[in-house]
Amino acid sequence: MTGPIVRFAPSPTGLLHVGNIRAALFNWLFARRHGGKFVLRLDDTDRQRSKPEYEAAIEQDLTWLGLVWDAKERQSDRLSHYDAARDKLIASGRLYPCYETPEELDFKRKRLQAQGRPPVYDRAALKLDAAARAKLEAEGRTPHWRFKLISEEVRWDDLVRGAQHVDEASQSDPVLVRADGSYLYSFTSVVDDIDMAITHVIRGEDHVTNTGAQIQMFEALGGTVPVFGHLPLLVDAKGAGLSKRTGSLSIGDLRAGGIEALAIDALLARIGTADAVEPVTSLDTLVATVDFARVGRAAARFSEEELAHLSARTLHAMPYADVRARLGADVDETLWLAVRGNLTKLDDAKAWATVVRGSITPVIEDAAFLTEAAAKLPSEPWGETTWKDWTSGLGRKGKALFHPLRLALTAQEKGPEMAKLLPLIGRTKAAARLKGQTA
Ligand code: GLU
Repeated sequence: MTGPIVRFAPSPTGLLHVGNIRAALFNWLFARRHGGKFVLRLDDTDRQRSKPEYEAAIEQDLTWLGLVWDAKERQSDRLSHYDAARDKLIASGRLYPCYETPEELDFKRKRLQAQGRPPVYDRAALKLDAAARAKLEAEGRTPHWRFKLISEEVRWDDLVRGAQHVDEASQSDPVLVRADGSYLYSFTSVVDDIDMAITHVIRGEDHVTNTGAQIQMFEALGGTVPVFGHLPLLVDAKGAGLSKRTGSLSIGDLRAGGIEALAIDALLARIGTADAVEPVTSLDTLVATVDFARVGRAAARFSEEELAHLSARTLHAMPYADVRARLGADVDETLWLAVRGNLTKLDDAKAWATVVRGSITPVIEDAAFLTEAAAKLPSEPWGETTWKDWTSGLGRKGKALFHPLRLALTAQEKGPEMAKLLPLIGRTKAAARLKGQTA
């Protein structure tokens, strides 16, 4: 058996944010776990709103998050396939032309609602004969096209939500082709899913309502109905829908704010599941544990604070080999291992490189004590025990001992363990800083 084929299908009409990345991530993890294929499909049939810069940003974000795709498709390259599928549905009587204006449709809806009935389209256009249609077209009306739903209960076994059913008798026949000839996403998506042999459609819960009609479209076009999985939406820490600010927090913003890609992956893979949110050192850990049976039905709680915290913890465990390229020549492995446990952001490591290798102006709190301490600095070579050996002979304890030393040696109130920093700073710089000299 071959592995699953899945797709992430963003519309390049804006920047990716945490909500849509969650769908991308689950698709990618699922494909990797089961030896399948992950397709990036750009749903760019909305020519007005789709922009090349958004497409580029989507690719940059996915690459940064490690969610590399095995194939890329663009809906705008596939228009002839949609035309063919449209013609097939027209020929089989499942797509029919409608001539109502938006105002007429609105009027019909309001009348039904006033009668306390569901605002379902009455299929008036289905009763038009060729002569009536020709007359409307002669009046200058161009049709939009509706998919004729079969009045039945559509059922599917959702990967996340379990057994689902929707009564299509209570739904309006959906418009698949607009009056200007352009296609609705729900239709092009099905044509693509058939042509690309998509086996699993994993997406946000906001698409559950499309699924019944889409299953009928798969069947009407002679395609294989994929397995569906609808992920619950993200909510904020109070359980409310993501606020405008958090909800629109783009992946690019998070990257610019120094958040680690792996932390975003780890958080989005685990919030709202039965597994604990914890830092990982590689995506492999998430691949090995992805399981739709462990995704809860309730909305997943996203918190920016939790993400920032996880990002810091991700750095604390990060092997040097994984950050070397991003750190530059100033931070070698010894320095990395000395400082990583104290970092909030990767760039902070560069500031510590300056403290250790560069020049700083010390902060002098207790000059007499520091001069005395400078005189007692042991001779080199220095190692892991130097700090303890030196400070245990200075006649002070606790904060009174450590605070002035740290301030003088690093010019910082807080930071990585001095035992690790001191040998990296070295005797010459240490002696000068303790005497108040910039070194
Ligand atoms: N372009 C749709 C969206 O961004 C895709 C939905 C789907 O995955 O079927 O919401």
